[in-house]
Amino acid sequence: MILYEHLNTNDKGNLTIGGLDTVDLAREFGTPAYIIDENVVRKNCRIYKNAAIKYFGEDALPLYASKALCFTEMYKIAAEEGLGIDCVSGGELYTAKKAGFPAERIYFHGNNKTDRDICDAMDMGVGTFVVDNCDELYAVSKEAVKRDTVQNILLRITPGIDPHTHKAIVTGSVDSKFGSAIETGQAMDIVKKAIAAKGVNLIGLHCHIGSQIFDIEPFSDAANIMARFIAQIKEECNYEIDVLNLGGGLGVRYTEYDREIDYEKSIKDIATVVTEYCKNNGIKMPKVILEPGRSLVAAAGITLYTVGGVKEIPGFKNYISVDGGMPDNPRYALYQSTYTALIANRATEARDYRATVAGRCCESGDLIGENMEIQKAQRGDILAVLVTGAYNYSMASNYNRIPRPPVILIKDGKARIAVKRETYEDIVRNDVL
Ligand SMILES: *Cc1c(COP(=O)(O)O)cnc(C)c1O
Repeated sequence: MILYEHLNTNDKGNLTIGGLDTVDLAREFGTPAYIIDENVVRKNCRIYKNAAIKYFGEDALPLYASKALCFTEMYKIAAEEGLGIDCVSGGELYTAKKAGFPAERIYFHGNNKTDRDICDAMDMGVGTFVVDNCDELYAVSKEAVKRDTVQNILLRITPGIDPHTHKAIVTGSVDSKFGSAIETGQAMDIVKKAIAAKGVNLIGLHCHIGSQIFDIEPFSDAANIMARFIAQIKEECNYEIDVLNLGGGLGVRYTEYDREIDYEKSIKDIATVVTEYCKNNGIKMPKVILEPGRSLVAAAGITLYTVGGVKEIPGFKNYISVDGGMPDNPRYALYQSTYTALIANRATEARDYRATVAGRCCESGDLIGENMEIQKAQRGDILAVLVTGAYNYSMASNYNRIPRPPVILIKDGKARIAVKRETYEDIVRNDVL
C-alpha cells in the first residue's frame, strides 16, 4: 500500500491503482493521463452521506463541490450516490444538466453570478442560489419577480475565521471577496434585505472557511459562530433559519508527512458543536449541508506521465522532466502544494533519489514539485504523481497549446474513458482564420 489502500505494487514491481497496472494503463491510454478510481470516489461519498445523516439527522445533505473534479460522468456518480452538488458557473451547471443531475439538488455558488448565469440557472430550475452580496440579491430578486416565481436562497456569510491554511485558499475571513461578514454588521444587513426582498425565499445561511484544513477547531468555531448568528436573527428579525451550510474544506493526505484524517469522526465532532449550541440556546436544529470537494475525489486520482530528459546540475538540483506539467497540474505553481511522486515501473524500489519534477512548458515555475523523494529515473520511465483527483483536471489549461489529458475511470478492475484526450484539432477549433 502506498498512502492509500487502492494504490499498491504488483509482482512486476509496478504501481497499481484499483488493482490495475499503471504501466499497462499508460501504454493503453497514453500519457499524460488522469486515472481516477471510481470505487474510492463512491466510498468517500458514502462516508460523508452516512455520517451526515447519522450525526446531523435525516435531513442532512452533503453536496459535492464539483469544481474539484468536473465532467459529465462525475455528476452522474454524485447523483447516484444521493449527493447534492455545488456549481459555480454556467459551464458547471450546463455539465450537470447534460448528466441529468436533479436540478432541485443543485446549489448555485460563486461571488459574481452574471445576469446570464442567473437566467440560465432559473431556466434549469436550480433548487437553491447561494447569494454572495446585496447586488446579487437584488439581481436574483428582480429576475425571479420578472418570472413570477420565488427562488430559494442561502446567504453566504463570512464568520471571520482564519483556518491556518494557504492564504490563496482561505475564504472565511472578514477581508474576503466572498460573502458578508458578521463582524462588520453587513451580514445582518443582507439578512434583513433578503427577508424583505420579493421573489426570494431566504431558507438559510452558508459559510466556507477555506480548504485543506486538518484541524477541527476552525470548523467548530465557524459552526458555533453561525449557530449564534442564527439565534441573533431569530431574536432581531423574528425569522427562523432552516438551513445551515457549513461548506467544505477538510484536508487530504498528499504525502506520508501529512496527517491521516478520519472524515466520519470530523463530521461527528462538528455535529456535536452544532447540536449542543442549538439545544442550549433553544433554537431549532437546522438542516445541515456539508460541501466536500477535495476530500471526496483527491485521493482517488493519480496522473501518469512519461519521463523525458533527466538532468543533474552539479551543486544544484536534479531535474526530471515529464510530458505534462502546469497545464495539467497548476497546484505547485499556485500554492506550492506537496505531492508524492514515484517511478511507476520501479515502484517497489526505494525512493532514495531527490529530484525536481518539471513540466514541459516555457516557464521556470512549471514544476510538479521540488526536491521530491523519488526513484532514480531515466527517459521512457512512467512517472506517477499521486492524489491528483482534485483541482488538477478541473484547473487544467491549454498553456503552450498543450492538449488536456484524458480522464480514465477505473471500476471493479476495468478502465474506461470518461473524458477523451484533447487533440490538436480541438486546440484550434475556435480559432477564426
Ligand atoms: C471550494 C469550495 C468547497 C470545497 O472545498 P474543498 O476544500 O475542496 O472541500 C466547498 N464550498 C465552497 C463554497 C467552495 O468554494
